[in-house]
Amino acid sequence: MQKKTTILLINKKGKENKIIQIPSGIILHWRKYLLLINCLIILLLAIIGIYIYQKTSEHYIDKLARANIIKNQIDLVKVKQSLNSIDENIHKINKSLNARGLESITIENAGGIGDNIEITDINNIAEFYANKIKEIKNTLIVTPLGKPTHGNISSLFGNRMNPFGGLRSEKHVGIDFKGKIGDPVKSTAKGIVIFTGVKGSYGKCIIIKHNNYLQTLYAHLSNSKVKVNQKIKAGEIIGTVGNSGRSTGPHLHYEVIHNDKKIDPKLFLKL
Ligand SMILES: [Zn+2]
Repeated sequence: MQKKTTILLINKKGKENKIIQIPSGIILHWRKYLLLINCLIILLLAIIGIYIYQKTSEHYIDKLARANIIKNQIDLVKVKQSLNSIDENIHKINKSLNARGLESITIENAGGIGDNIEITDINNIAEFYANKIKEIKNTLIVTPLGKPTHGNISSLFGNRMNPFGGLRSEKHVGIDFKGKIGDPVKSTAKGIVIFTGVKGSYGKCIIIKHNNYLQTLYAHLSNSKVKVNQKIKAGEIIGTVGNSGRSTGPHLHYEVIHNDKKIDPKLFLKL
């Protein structure tokens, strides 16, 4: 029989007293029991600790392995070549824009890719070029390009003999395109109509503003299909060829205006 110690709990309010029996061993050897409980708690914590360590280190090793696979799949030399090629092309586009009197797209030096690009830079470099390409797209959308009508050129920009006769030469500030009355006239870039109506010797005429410094003008029309403040897409039909104003026969007179100065539209016929 196990030895037990009896504890009598006396209730002062006169209710029944309570008797508790505890094995005498616990009272005599409480230090040993406490030590045992401590050891058990430490053991449990150690098991939890080892489990967490194993799980996280496995995860880390796994991640590292995957990063290495990706790194090996990317051919840095090829990436550098591609980036340099993009860079060269942006410079060419800039040259082409400059030749047309347009603002060039600024390139800070992420361009001319150095030799020490790291895999970790690729995100930044890709983002940089994605933004540059977007800028180019936005510039091109508002840049008048190509012909406003299908007819051939009949008169270029610059000094020419007065088409109405006489000996004095005059400066022709646009390009004339041959055409028949009713031939479609298209906007050469995205923009907004700032004028439509009769304008002196231009006759029936449309002016489209493409950005803060570029406008195009279409003159001698037989008909305008647009209203002031109307938004126009590149290539949208805005009117028809005519013979209105100071004109010697049906044709389209086309101007490109850069910062209020009339410049040669021929620069914009091809990119
Ligand atoms: Zn003309």
